[in-house]
Amino acid sequence: MGTCIFCSIIAGHQAASVVYEDAIVCAFLDINPVNPGHVLVVPKTHLPCVADMDEVVGGHLFKVSMRLDRTLRRSGLRCDGVNLFLADGVEAGQEVPHVHIHVIPRFKGDVFRIEADWSARPSRPELDHYAEQLRHAYETMSNSLHDD
Ligand code: AMP
Ligand code: ZN
Repeated sequence: MGTCIFCSIIAGHQAASVVYEDAIVCAFLDINPVNPGHVLVVPKTHLPCVADMDEVVGGHLFKVSMRLDRTLRRSGLRCDGVNLFLADGVEAGQEVPHVHIHVIPRFKGDVFRIEADWSARPSRPELDHYAEQLRHAYETMSNSLHDD
């Protein structure tokens, strides 16, 4: 993928400050960090969306993100909490169309915000209705993956 900035980084054609790398993923610093130490964990294969990603690759991506969470907390950088964040799709805020997990060190008073209206309080029947809809969709999806 010649036009993908993350593929260019993985190929070594663009500069990046790499924190960790193995055969499946590469983790490097975000050039526009929320806080110092903000890392992006990226599969080495070009995959635009989560749905494109093999579950073994996804599991490994999350495992490395978990380890970077632990790493940040003991790194000496300011880190009292961590956000693991993945924007899947343009409407979800994805800007680079190559799957990546943000591992963001957090501390009291920092500038990171996720804007939302958190005031909705649906009734239990409404919650149960959506849960039933999702249980059905999950089962159908799992069956299509020949998985449980
Ligand atoms: P997202 O909105 O989840 O797609 O986030 C994309 C992230 O990639 C943003 O936080 C950008 O700052 C970051 N980014 C874009 N180009 C580069 C680059 N060349 N090196 C490191 N991070 C980048
Ligand atoms: Zn790519």
